[in-house]
Amino acid sequence: MASEVTAKRLRVNGIVQGVGFRPFVFQLAEKYSLNGEVANTSSGVTIHIQGPDAQVTAFEADLTANAPPLAYIVEISGEPQPIGEFDNFAIVKSKNESEISTLISPDVSVCDDCRAELFAPHDRRYRYPFINCTNCGPRYTIIDDIPYDRPMTSMRHFQMCADCQAEYDDPANRRFHAQPNACAECGPHVALYDSAVNRVACQDSILEAATLLKKGYILAVKGLGGYHLAADAANADAVRRLRDRKMREEKPFAVMAYDSIAIRRFADLDEVEEEILTSIQRPIVLLRKRASADMICPEVAPRNKYFGVMLPYTPLHYILLEQDFTALVMTSANLSEEPIAIDNEEAFKRLGKIADYFLVHNRDIYLRSDDSIVRYTAGSKRFFRRSRGFVPVPVFLRNKLPQILACGAELKNTVCLTKRDKAFLSQHIGDLENAQTYDFFRLTVRHLKRILDIQPEVIACDLHPDYLSTRYAEEQRALPKVRIQHHHAHIVSGMAEHKLDGEVIGLAFDGTGLGTDNAVWGGEILIAETHKFERAGHLGYVAMPGSTAAIKEPWRMAISYLQDAYGPDFVDLGLPVLDSIGNDKLAVISQMINQEFNSPMTSSLGRLFDGVAAICGIRNRVNFEGQAAMELEMLAADTAASGYDCAWERENGFLVPPAPIIRAVVADVQNNVSPAEIGAKFHLTLVQLFSDICDELRREYGLDRVVLSGGCFQNATLLSGMIRSLQARKFDVYSHEQIPTNDGGISLGQAVVAAAVYEERFA
Ligand code: ZN
Ligand code: ZN
Ligand code: FE
Repeated sequence: MASEVTAKRLRVNGIVQGVGFRPFVFQLAEKYSLNGEVANTSSGVTIHIQGPDAQVTAFEADLTANAPPLAYIVEISGEPQPIGEFDNFAIVKSKNESEISTLISPDVSVCDDCRAELFAPHDRRYRYPFINCTNCGPRYTIIDDIPYDRPMTSMRHFQMCADCQAEYDDPANRRFHAQPNACAECGPHVALYDSAVNRVACQDSILEAATLLKKGYILAVKGLGGYHLAADAANADAVRRLRDRKMREEKPFAVMAYDSIAIRRFADLDEVEEEILTSIQRPIVLLRKRASADMICPEVAPRNKYFGVMLPYTPLHYILLEQDFTALVMTSANLSEEPIAIDNEEAFKRLGKIADYFLVHNRDIYLRSDDSIVRYTAGSKRFFRRSRGFVPVPVFLRNKLPQILACGAELKNTVCLTKRDKAFLSQHIGDLENAQTYDFFRLTVRHLKRILDIQPEVIACDLHPDYLSTRYAEEQRALPKVRIQHHHAHIVSGMAEHKLDGEVIGLAFDGTGLGTDNAVWGGEILIAETHKFERAGHLGYVAMPGSTAAIKEPWRMAISYLQDAYGPDFVDLGLPVLDSIGNDKLAVISQMINQEFNSPMTSSLGRLFDGVAAICGIRNRVNFEGQAAMELEMLAADTAASGYDCAWERENGFLVPPAPIIRAVVADVQNNVSPAEIGAKFHLTLVQLFSDICDELRREYGLDRVVLSGGCFQNATLLSGMIRSLQARKFDVYSHEQIPTNDGGISLGQAVVAAAVYEERFA
């Protein structure tokens, strides 16, 4: 008995263009012998499909279950249609070219099919380092303008040969409309140079590069989103030289290893971490060092429990890593905190004193994109940096917003552009502290506006007048501007990610953000809504002697907290940290605090971490922001039997005075309790105090949703402790999973707040 014939129109919404979706639909229709057509539209693709009922149902099931790896389906809607005049299935041109969607795929790692061809001696692309297909390869970093077609990418300089063109034109081929399609005949090539820009004569540039790495040289290697500096991770001398030349004393270097087997020799890797590591986005994943990790030299990640590890993600990486390295250090090629180098000329100029050799290629990178960094904590993937592989996949929002440009914070800057129900976070731009990074910021704004086709109606920025991102916003005189308090933006970024509306309790813990009272906030308890917030409580204020100098020198915070807890008598406590500072400096800092000279008041939890770390003798100075706090976390035992006995107070809201915590820490230091135990007790104390306050707030406001945001939640002990404790008290807890909890995620919150405020103010 023949089944009923039906016809349907399916609208597929999401990232389904330039990712091999139409050929996939075409092949699926053939598989089930169905007729109809598929076309691109402004929001995705539309499919007309007709044939026997059962076949159509099977087709629909397959459509979601087996979509191509780069496709990101948001939703599929279907409606019945009259049976049409179709005697086959066809890929048709979009009916209105101007309506083409602007969703662009991120750059992703080389796929298994391409990798198999790469190492197949008889394949025409054997060992060709730019092999790619519709399922893999560069996208975001090579696009100059929309629509995403070859002439709009850096592949425009390469004319496809007949073989490549035939693949490109064949809907049944894996390279149908693969814009970066190329081969050794017609595509880009690599070349090896020394630091004086002399071409190194050799048979095979990549093999020669591997040999040089084995000899201990430092190489600049051009990748997907920029240059890496590479060194043999087993060679302590090479890694030390790299640190010296890059002026990076202690910040951990990421490493790249060939596969999971190689990684398991030096790091623990569970199933979920392996899944994240091998995902097509190929982020750097923080993995616990193994006890016997001595084949990787300690200089790679000193005083850290973790290695940042990634797998190869370009064909070039695979050819290089195949040469039997335990791992290669692969760190962003920049000097200190400048943006990563992408251009060949620029690389020679800027990296000439760091790299001994340069492995370059002639496929231009239009937009730099650093490696993304994640850690699996408290049941989820947590971003330290969301960049290559993830950008420009949007965060899908609860409501449609006007077109907004949010300029982000100062450190770990990203910008955010919104369009309808999508928020596009930029790649990691960096710390807006030098001209190069500011140039990159402006370039990124221009570029994103163009490729996303967004003309902002509103501009959002931080309250802080001195951030370069705020100054940029000030310069855009034609646009209405909304200034947003830093911690409000943090909490709303968490609300936006989880599509929350209404009032929530927000715990915003970080290093620095300007408050509405001009103090430096960072240990904040907010009752937040999208358009407004109330400060329900905070960590008690102490002075930051020397202002930003106190961030670089945690010993200053130690003095401030000690003086706050003990008054002038703190000098007699006999603490090792005081001896290490010396009496002269002690007196100067003490006086600065007393005279309120260049000593803004702060409620920052990040500074409390720094102060406690210094009092425990962990370190007096930091080489990068948050280092002392991180080392306190690294040292801390995983659990403590109990926290310190401290209480919150009430005066115009909830106050967590630091003095009782400091006195408890000092008593432990005096009793020779180990920093590991002090660290564990300190974390637990914070968790208990803030959970108790959330209980009080629930009673008063009837709220049981808590949003956690801010850079302090990069700390796994604090994050998982807070989540566990609040969930045990039956709160719904929301933490960041799609965007970073640090200032890299703040632009999303700014955009969403600005939309709500703008609506109230102007609409
Ligand atoms: Zn591929
Ligand atoms: Zn070719
Ligand atoms: Fe922050």
